[in-house]
Amino acid sequence: MADTEQKTAWTVGRLLDWTTAHFQQKSVEGGRLAAELLLARALNCKKIDLYTRYNLEPTEEQRTQFRDLVRRAGEHVPIAYLLGTREFFSLEFTVSPAVLIPRPETEALVQRAIDFCRQRQDQTQHILDIGTGSGCIAIAIARYAPNAQIVAVDISSEALSVAQANWVRHELGDRVRLVQADVAALPSDAIPAAGFDLIVSNPPYISEPQWSELPPNVREHEPRTALYGGVDGLDFYRQFATELPARCSTGAILLVEIGYQQQDAVRKIFCDSPNWQYIGSHRDRTDPHERVLEFQRSVTNPSA
Ligand code: GLN
Repeated sequence: MADTEQKTAWTVGRLLDWTTAHFQQKSVEGGRLAAELLLARALNCKKIDLYTRYNLEPTEEQRTQFRDLVRRAGEHVPIAYLLGTREFFSLEFTVSPAVLIPRPETEALVQRAIDFCRQRQDQTQHILDIGTGSGCIAIAIARYAPNAQIVAVDISSEALSVAQANWVRHELGDRVRLVQADVAALPSDAIPAAGFDLIVSNPPYISEPQWSELPPNVREHEPRTALYGGVDGLDFYRQFATELPARCSTGAILLVEIGYQQQDAVRKIFCDSPNWQYIGSHRDRTDPHERVLEFQRSVTNPSA
């Protein structure tokens, strides 16, 4: 009797095993890690604490909360939205369905931006972050580069309130300014007198054919406006190539994230313009693809 009870009791260990199998069967992102994160949330403990509680039985209330999280994960609601946070560049960010969930490949862009600032550490670097979403790019740069002065823009007021929460959380004061605007209509007081030294962006770049191939946790839950970049996915790069030169200081750098098959097409868009020079590409060490392209505003501008 005691034996049977032991076997059927819903201990932490059994809940994790069952949920991991359930997530595998339903192709939920994250597998066992997702199960652990959700159970830790329901138990209000750290993921690592689950291991010392393996044989404990959560209370009915905790199990109800866990069951609800598992059900929503089974509907492909991203784990980051269920938890309300995601780690990016070793920092914790608040996220909601109003913003794209920060991704590891974007860390390559942040790393390059920090290196850029460190190479010029005796001077304030004026940076523009276009389509800031959760604010993760601007905030991570500001946290690690004390000379960075950043204007982060987004057209979505819902996204900006998430960025605002992250700005408060990371205590950045006037080093990061959040502005609701399209990059084509930046308020003049947001533009530094000599232009921006560095412009960064992870724009929407999913094309029409790629849209239908996105996994359901992305396609059905993350904001389409943060993902869809027009029929060929390249609309924002075209806009940047034409509109950003007027916002740049002499010799300014532009860093853009791209889709893994877009390198040649994006290079061409910028190099067809006399205003830009291709500098190179960057990638996160875990990523097989070059995901960040670097361009420089041409120092002599024939079209100016
Ligand atoms: N990397 C994201 C994805 O593949 C897309 C991000 C973007 O469009 N900027 O889901």
